[in-house]
Amino acid sequence: MFRFLYPKEYISSVFEMSAERIKKLDKDTVVFDIDNTLVPYWIKVPDERLVRYFRSLGDAGIKTAVLSNSREERSKVFCAVTSMPYVFRAGKPRKKGFYRLMDKIGSSPHKTIIMGDQIFTDVWCGNRVGAYSVLVKQVSPKDELITAPKRPFEKIIVKMYLRYVRKNGGKYE
Ligand SMILES: [Mg+2]
Repeated sequence: MFRFLYPKEYISSVFEMSAERIKKLDKDTVVFDIDNTLVPYWIKVPDERLVRYFRSLGDAGIKTAVLSNSREERSKVFCAVTSMPYVFRAGKPRKKGFYRLMDKIGSSPHKTIIMGDQIFTDVWCGNRVGAYSVLVKQVSPKDELITAPKRPFEKIIVKMYLRYVRKNGGKYE
């Protein structure tokens, strides 16, 4: 019933999505959510490990970009460190912001992985545009006020999703 909200994969950290793995999936672009996907919401810049990770993808010819529902300052400061392109106030799960980002970086949705910690914004958005949606376990248990009320519903969807995957022999499709 809620298949449209299911991610293609559920991973515990973005680092699991290595350049090698991305190439194996035949994708050339990764679109990241920032808050609670890469860093907790109060951390303004990527740490060294993240910077190294972004570089490892770039070195492998994989484009990286940020799609954030937050205000401009958030993406601007975070992305400045590695000069990563971004679209702010993306309005996920609406498709418009995602397409704007695709235009900006010259990528297409079916070659793109979207990684985020929220079902109702990141995963749903990715599924709507035909991108490869990856749900990432939130890096901090602390959510912003706007996010917190959605978590109990997300938990239900994730539970259904995991049961579905289990029944399906560990495979999404
Ligand atoms: Mg988030």
